Amino acid sequence: DEDLGLLDTISDDPDAIVYLPALPVLAIVGRPNVGKSALVNRIIGRREAVVEDTPGVTRDRVNYKSEWNNRHFTIVDTGGWEPDAKGINASVAAQAEIAIDLADAVLFVVDATVGATSTDEHVVRLLRGTKKPVILVANKVDDARQEPQAAELWSLGLGEPWPVSAVHGRGVADLLDKVLTVLPEVSAVAKEEVGGPRRVAILGRPNVGKSSLLNKTAGEERVVVNEMAGTTRDPVDEQIELGGKFWRFVDTAGIRRRVNLSQGADFYATLRTSAALEKAEVAIVILDVSEPISVQDLKIVDLVLESGRALVLAFNKWDLLDDERRYTLEREIEQDLGHVAWAPRVNISAKTGRHMEKLVPALELALESWDTRIPTGKFNALLAELVAEHPHPVRGGKQPRILFGTQAASRPPTFVLFTTGFLDPQYRRFITRRLREIFGFEGSPINVNMRVRE
Ligand code: GDP
Repeated sequence: DEDLGLLDTISDDPDAIVYLPALPVLAIVGRPNVGKSALVNRIIGRREAVVEDTPGVTRDRVNYKSEWNNRHFTIVDTGGWEPDAKGINASVAAQAEIAIDLADAVLFVVDATVGATSTDEHVVRLLRGTKKPVILVANKVDDARQEPQAAELWSLGLGEPWPVSAVHGRGVADLLDKVLTVLPEVSAVAKEEVGGPRRVAILGRPNVGKSSLLNKTAGEERVVVNEMAGTTRDPVDEQIELGGKFWRFVDTAGIRRRVNLSQGADFYATLRTSAALEKAEVAIVILDVSEPISVQDLKIVDLVLESGRALVLAFNKWDLLDDERRYTLEREIEQDLGHVAWAPRVNISAKTGRHMEKLVPALELALESWDTRIPTGKFNALLAELVAEHPHPVRGGKQPRILFGTQAASRPPTFVLFTTGFLDPQYRRFITRRLREIFGFEGSPINVNMRVRE
């Protein structure tokens, strides 16, 4: 690998998640108040997943990087939406469905002090539909006297219950040892397929035309690849031939299977979007031009940016556009999407087929940018020019200098500048802007990080 291996240490944001697509994925499922968040916190050793015991509280952050005995994995906390009593079954069903689709193994958490409820049994039935490993966690076993309560959960038919106290940490080490025995070394769901078809996520809020676009591209002859051998479920991804080559559209199951949830729909949409992004290399974010650009649209764009994937914006339902709307749309794009002005835009109609042929070139352009590697020599020559053109301002008698730079990674292009002091954010933006002007990077986010040399 040409990567310099710097990525883990260079991020400016100590909490930034570095997505490594090949990490195995462990999903945590369970009804509200069984202690999923506490267990996630215990496993990741942070307080980040803490959520008050307030019904209806949602979290957007659902993926956590985790490690045990030098094995790294991603935890997906599917339980961020805490529904009221009426919504519980739908909520846990959605969790289980997502976990089965998108994880390599599932931790199913039950409150041993309460025992198995009918909701728990409902989840068990769903989890039986998968051949993925499911580990039954009996939580709130705070001391040995409660272990018989955990043992009662044998009756669920999911094998041995693992008694833990997420809050006190009791039993969690043993549980994690067990987890490592069932997690694959490399994820089967999020695996990186070097040389395989490029992986595309189709994203957008409900009714923007995701399934219409999928159907239009797939046509009659869609090629279905069932990569979830042994399950009774729909394939999660579809492989489709477009522009003379195959593309893997990830989590099309999430698009085709319309889950009607009265509550928490946004949360599950976010969860699916994040998981799809984790598998994808490039995202097509679909916007519906017949409606104003919404907060939800922008949130999806933000998730793409956070994931570091390449981005194509598809403005759909172009057939519905009149002159007046066209004018307001342009204003909205300027105002709301200025920060992703680098993303290729295609104006399409999934209904009439208008400009659908422009999707593939846009995807290819975005991926090419995402893959770009700038040789170190060239990059440093360029940095020298930029610094000569526009030196860093003197701050308090000092002028931080850029000693040298290198591209530490691609996908997306990530640069590291080694400096003698902190560069102004403004100056970093200048460098980033100039890099874009020079190299384009259309369709790809780029990162410019720095490391101060003492
Ligand atoms: P999804 O929820 O994002 O998968 O959206 P759908 O593909 O189900 O589309 C939602 C609605 O918009 C359906 O009634 C579609 O027929 C309609 N629709 C999708 N694309 C277009 C388009 O390009 N033009 C028009 N006029 N309608 C569209």
